Amino acid sequence: SIPLGFFGGIGLASKNGILVKGGNYLEALNSVDKIVFDKTGTLTKGSFEVTEVKSFSNYSENELLKLAAEIEQFSNHPIAQSIIEAADGYQNHSSDSVYKEISGAGIKAQLNGKTYLAGNKRLMENNGIKLEFDEANATVVYLAEAGNYLGYILISDQIKADSFEAIKKLKAMNIKNITMLTGDNNASAKEVASNLGIDHYYAELLPDQKIEKIESLLEKDKKLAFVGDGINDAPVLARSDLGIAMGGLGSDAAIEAADIVLMTDEPSKIAAALEIAKKTKRLVW
Ligand code: ADP
Ligand code: MG
Repeated sequence: SIPLGFFGGIGLASKNGILVKGGNYLEALNSVDKIVFDKTGTLTKGSFEVTEVKSFSNYSENELLKLAAEIEQFSNHPIAQSIIEAADGYQNHSSDSVYKEISGAGIKAQLNGKTYLAGNKRLMENNGIKLEFDEANATVVYLAEAGNYLGYILISDQIKADSFEAIKKLKAMNIKNITMLTGDNNASAKEVASNLGIDHYYAELLPDQKIEKIESLLEKDKKLAFVGDGINDAPVLARSDLGIAMGGLGSDAAIEAADIVLMTDEPSKIAAALEIAKKTKRLVW
């Protein structure tokens, strides 16, 4: 049974832009000792910008960017959006052309009778493409045409100013274990984690591997909170002791699967939620 005072706590939380779906979740916040963050869109802004295009083919850099936009035009991944925005003018294809979005990897598309790939190292390796570049402190989108490597596009995201505040506050509140998970490459994960002072991170994870990672981090008698925003995060949110979703830019699936929703997409609201939970407990007992 839930003490009545927790409803007061839920009201206080909601005044602070923190939607708690039940008093039991507020109570659970008091036992959280491990917080796991998703990277893209949670700790970073999730809005990418193209910073470099490099061609290893007959295509000019401009043509390569246009081609990438053609391949990405049916994806609504933030990576795809940044490429489409950066390319000026590209050919539109019918959406019933052969097109496949591979979660955590990229795009495979059939255009003008040829197979094109746009995505990460894993996508290229799985399709037998040999790369001439493979580490950067940025997200890399490799491109291939009919089995041949064409070049790459570097895109970068920015850490939210609020994320620095959030990690500092959580550490000050004695949360011992802060971890970051991402499907992005190791170098860009390392960059974000070290800038924020996050000690543990796991990169290049497929959506299923994120769930497995969470399962391996769960401990009996301790509570793990996971904070995420994406469509792929919904199963991870559901599997965690406490699922916390970003409500602003977050996907409907993530908001639905979460126990707590942060309306303003600020990770520091997690510290605020922990404070409110503590205060509520004092009032209740
Ligand atoms: P995160 O875990 O950071 O939210 P995702 O699981 O959405 O990332 O994607 C993981 C990785 O898969 C991306 O960093 C990117 O390398 C690749 N990827 C996913 N979708 C696309 C796309 N539409 N175009 C190119 N690359 C993509
Ligand atoms: Mg994500």
